[in-house]
Amino acid sequence: MSDTTGHGADAFFREQRAAFTHTLATQGSEAALLQAWDSFDGNVAIQSEGQPPVECAKGCASCCTLRVTALAPEVFVLADYLRATAPALQRHGIDLIGAVRAADAATRGLHEATRVAARRRCAFVVQGVCLLHRARPLACRGHASHDRRACADAAAGRVDEVPFSGPHRLVRLLLQSALQAALRDQGKAWGAYELNHALVLALDRPGAQAGWKQGEDPLADAAADLELRAAMAAGFDEMRL
Ligand code: SF4
Repeated sequence: MSDTTGHGADAFFREQRAAFTHTLATQGSEAALLQAWDSFDGNVAIQSEGQPPVECAKGCASCCTLRVTALAPEVFVLADYLRATAPALQRHGIDLIGAVRAADAATRGLHEATRVAARRRCAFVVQGVCLLHRARPLACRGHASHDRRACADAAAGRVDEVPFSGPHRLVRLLLQSALQAALRDQGKAWGAYELNHALVLALDRPGAQAGWKQGEDPLADAAADLELRAAMAAGFDEMRL
């Protein structure tokens, strides 16, 4: 992405949409997700040149009390990861699947402001570390701060403002939108889902991923963006012209 102004952003969106469309058609949704992660890292690095450093680091999970949304490919990758790692983690006394079920039970249906005020840690933070870090959703990747102390103060309710990294936010927004547009073009459910609820649905319905690949929306009950979808769909159609 050469710049972050309107033309550069539009061109980047179109390029990424085309690239995701090709990957989805030839290699599937997991490959498209890996592509999104790689593109995120590369383009954030370019866009962050000359910017103050980001202070996010292992051991800091101050912002991991916010609601997380994820796309269906992210949910299914994480559900597979949880299933695959459960036996080994349980030998260390860690039950991530139980933790996500508890988090869902405690947060489902809560208004965003209520949820923020509750300051409940994400189910995947263990000893201050995100155990999903390498597979974390784009929403988490796009949330980066220039001031670690401000994050801690915000988490404690002492301040409202945190200097978040603009490049992380912008690249996440464009990549996530491009992936959504490509999914929609392929007839797949392309919305954003509340992570805990969506994971519980994916874990409890063995055929969920296969159904999604056939064009169903097995995560629909966890939809987090219904009020936005019509406008987003219109924008995706306009950007195809
Ligand atoms: S998935 Fe990881 S990075 Fe995202 S909110 Fe949870 S602990 Fe934080």
